[in-house]
Amino acid sequence: MISEKMTQAINDQINREFYSAFLYLAMANDAMDKGFKGAAHWLTLQFEEEQEHAMKFSAYLQDRGAKVKLAAMDMPKTEWKDLQAIFTEVLAHEKQVTAWINEINALAIAEKDYATQNMLRWFIDEQVEEEANASDVIWMLEMSAGSKGALFMADKTLGGRKDD
Ligand code: MG
Repeated sequence: MISEKMTQAINDQINREFYSAFLYLAMANDAMDKGFKGAAHWLTLQFEEEQEHAMKFSAYLQDRGAKVKLAAMDMPKTEWKDLQAIFTEVLAHEKQVTAWINEINALAIAEKDYATQNMLRWFIDEQVEEEANASDVIWMLEMSAGSKGALFMADKTLGGRKDD
């Protein structure tokens, strides 16, 4: 039996994953508006991935016999200064998500909820990937700072991201 407290913690996380999706879609729309189709593609795949995370948490709660309850989300920003600003915020946001998942894991350890600890292992690994991916993009953008040609190539590279 999953605890009330854990059910609430996972429901909160489901909302945060949907908010992450919403935020990345807002970023994709801004990138598109600025003419960066490659970055928009990258961010749209990220939008889809975050919805999958929310659904993965939802399926877990349902498998444990608990109810998924959606809640209101904050309105995301609609404009960023440039691609650098977008991806700097992606990395900061992912670090926040990592901290939230670690908190849920700490609760699962405290409650001796081994099934939730096992389920969270996938997300803990995923967060390592998410932070590394955002850092790689920031590095690429830093390398292309000040050069329109390099920025064009960076956007092209982002456009090559595969659905993973
Ligand atoms: Mg996520």
